[in-house]
Amino acid sequence: MKKSTVVVAVVGAATVCAVATLIVKHRMHKSSKWGRAVAIIREFEEKCVTKDSKLKQVADAMTVEMHAGLASEGGSKLKMLITYVDNLPTGDEDGVFYALDLGGTNFRVLRVQLGGKEGGIVHQEFAEASIPESLMVGNSDALFDYIAAELAKFVAAEEEKFHQPLGKQRELGFTFSFPVMQTSINSGTIMRWTKGFSIDDAVGQDVVGELEKAMKRKGVDMRVSALVNDTVGTLAGGKYTHKDVAVAVILGTGTNAAYVERVQAIPKWHGPVPKSGEMVINMEWGNFRSSHLPLTEYDHALDNESLNPGEQIFEKMTSGMYLGEILRRVLLRVAEEAGVFGDEVPPKLKEAFILRTPDMSAMHHDSSSDLRVVGDKLKDILEISNTSLKTRRLVVELCNIVATRGARLAAAGVLGILKKMGRDTPRQGGPEKTVIAMDGGLYEHYTEYRMVLENSLKELLGEELATSIVFVHSNDGSGIGAALLAASHSMYLEDKS
Ligand code: ADP
Ligand code: MG
Repeated sequence: MKKSTVVVAVVGAATVCAVATLIVKHRMHKSSKWGRAVAIIREFEEKCVTKDSKLKQVADAMTVEMHAGLASEGGSKLKMLITYVDNLPTGDEDGVFYALDLGGTNFRVLRVQLGGKEGGIVHQEFAEASIPESLMVGNSDALFDYIAAELAKFVAAEEEKFHQPLGKQRELGFTFSFPVMQTSINSGTIMRWTKGFSIDDAVGQDVVGELEKAMKRKGVDMRVSALVNDTVGTLAGGKYTHKDVAVAVILGTGTNAAYVERVQAIPKWHGPVPKSGEMVINMEWGNFRSSHLPLTEYDHALDNESLNPGEQIFEKMTSGMYLGEILRRVLLRVAEEAGVFGDEVPPKLKEAFILRTPDMSAMHHDSSSDLRVVGDKLKDILEISNTSLKTRRLVVELCNIVATRGARLAAAGVLGILKKMGRDTPRQGGPEKTVIAMDGGLYEHYTEYRMVLENSLKELLGEELATSIVFVHSNDGSGIGAALLAASHSMYLEDKS
């Protein structure tokens, strides 16, 4: 009895020992996996670092490229397009003006009634319609006929009080957010289509001419007084309400910036010097690239597999179309090499662009103690269930790394513009106030991104200048701004020089 007890005890001890060894082994395995995951993330984080010194280099490179792009056509990756907008709204505009906003799957027709000096926007109204997919790849006449017909409907339904005085034509601002080589304030040729549009017979045509022909066919008596893109529209819309607006930045699906330049500083401009001495430049800054940009292997892979490899590198690090996709690529690596989501790599995680920036932003902003939103998003989008709190924390950390890098680079871009404008150093008699008109879904909704962007710029500028820089959200600038530009470039203005 005694003997057997001893045996049992020995066997028992051995079992306990074996089990203990197993547990330790298992733990080691788990912890080394976790260690691998942490190592991958630390390495990514290190490569994404955007110290102030680095941002200043990026800003300097932006300034240099701006100079080069202004010097000659094709002189830089920055196109620095001349917009022929030499005359931003002053706030004194008066009358009823229209806008047409085309540049995505939806397009809008707007009417804005301006009240003149201190009157502001008295009335505004818009109609929105989606562009049927068949028209996005059809022919030029079909697309423009459709748009003109919507315009005709909008005008036919309007109240009498909006009618123009006898003999006066309605005037329209056309926001056309595709690459255009502008030839005057109200003409320009379509260089190429983007965003799913592909209408071959329109390429090389005057976009305003195409629209005006269609308006004639549909019996709309209207004149296009300004042709702009969304960034220039935002600048104009911002300027109308804040007179110190000098820069506009769009952070949405893509990104772009526009600013007011002195004509003297545009060597490639050979036209007459406008009365204002100024010209709005559409930078097309999404295509900026510099050796100082903290590119990682994930960025290179994203670019290589994109529809436009080698192009829009700045946009691919900063804008809404790509942030979620960068996050997905890092998560995929962590899943493949460290198995944090189980032994098998979740198949959904392999699908490009499945993780959208709005979802990333929702996870990043998750303030619940158990990171419930993160858990739900991982489950709903990637079909990864039962994630531990530790894993969720890791996901939030990655969101933070990707968003912080993007936002800080955008801030460096703005600093580059301010440098070009000579507004990055204090002036005698106090700094000049600079208002930056911002728009786009990323800026509007990704609070963390917006805060990092704004705070980083202020940090970079230093305390004294920080107070002279103001960001304003210029909501729907691209629509209203185009109407305002039609007003400030109206053919009925007495002094048009
Ligand atoms: P577009 O740039 O296509 O003209 P928007 O300015 O409305 O349109 O921007 C839409 C983009 O903004 C989306 O593609 C997305 O990347 C980003 N976005 C929208 N909502 C959010 C959100 N809640 N959080 C983060 N990004 C968002
Ligand atoms: Mg937009």
